Amino acid sequence: MQAKRQLAILGSTGSIGTQALEVIERHADRFSVVALTAHQNVPKLFEQVARFRPTLAGLTDARFSLKDVPADLRFCRWVFGSEALTAAAALKAADTVLVSVVGMCGLQSVLTALEHHKRVLLANKEALVAGGKLVMEAARKAGEHSLLPMDSEHSAIFQCLQGAAGNPVERLYLTCSGGPFRTWPKADINRATREEALRHPTWSMGQKITVDSATLFNKALEMIEARYLFNVEPSQIQVLVHPQSVVHSAVGFADGAVIAQLGTPDMRLPILYAMAYPERLPTGGAPLDFFTVQALTFERPDPERFPALRLAEMCLAAGGAACCILNAANEVAVRQFLQPDSGKPITVGRIYTVVEETLRRVGNLPADTLTQVLAADRLARETAQSLLP
Ligand code: MG
Repeated sequence: MQAKRQLAILGSTGSIGTQALEVIERHADRFSVVALTAHQNVPKLFEQVARFRPTLAGLTDARFSLKDVPADLRFCRWVFGSEALTAAAALKAADTVLVSVVGMCGLQSVLTALEHHKRVLLANKEALVAGGKLVMEAARKAGEHSLLPMDSEHSAIFQCLQGAAGNPVERLYLTCSGGPFRTWPKADINRATREEALRHPTWSMGQKITVDSATLFNKALEMIEARYLFNVEPSQIQVLVHPQSVVHSAVGFADGAVIAQLGTPDMRLPILYAMAYPERLPTGGAPLDFFTVQALTFERPDPERFPALRLAEMCLAAGGAACCILNAANEVAVRQFLQPDSGKPITVGRIYTVVEETLRRVGNLPADTLTQVLAADRLARETAQSLLP
């Protein structure tokens, strides 16, 4: 009987957090939950705390305090504000930290967990996109397999690499559904609205990532993550538009072999794979049925209609804080895009121009320390905001 993994889940009420808890319940003999944090979904967090009985619980929204917590849930330690993430990431009782928070707070959480020699399961984009160099340095110090991806594409690549057996990697194939605008003309994409962007064809996810999947900024961020996580040159990463979302990604090796990971679009697999690594445990999801898959098709991404990929390549080539700036500008623009009643609606085209113009105005900045990364992030956000209505 193997020792149970002791998990701290940062961002437990989001899409990844809730699915992680679902697979934990299925494999209760293998995992226990020692910490849970949420931003402001209080009812859901209370429900999870009552069910999983962690030793630490936290709400990162600083408006909350212990008086908001019902008496019967005060059996654990409660932490409020940004401290909640640090406390959970450094918690002594945790050996594994799942970082599924959204935003730059993920970077600090990942660094804290790695400094405390935890295994980090990464479901936060900002950590590697904004602080790729810093995070990979911290991961090297923390030891082998201290940072495992949970994103479906990076998990797929990581799974394919298990079959490398010394075969050098030539190319990473990062698949992409193409999103709801895959076949749209450029002018229509640029005019597209919030409702149109939120109609993702294959995956059901949070709103920010759904918009990013429509603009392909999600794939742009994933290219940046892959470059750091797998230590490859940007030119070794090929994005493949694959509308069926069956091939989750693939690796091309020096001997000509291509190994791909296939499956139904079910996040529980990459979640559980990272949680149980190097073991593989059943998720309970439906297996892939090859006979219902009519065809697997692959298209070259179009940088004219989807400038996000071109911008990511540019930022990777520029180095420094360029990727951090791209991410920050996109986040600010998408936030405004998602505001339903702001009275200042913006279109998809505006997201691209805000990111491009922010990159131009901010220029390149160093990103060798956390302070520098946070400063670049702040400046990019201010700049992007000033470009919005
Ligand atoms: Mg993904």
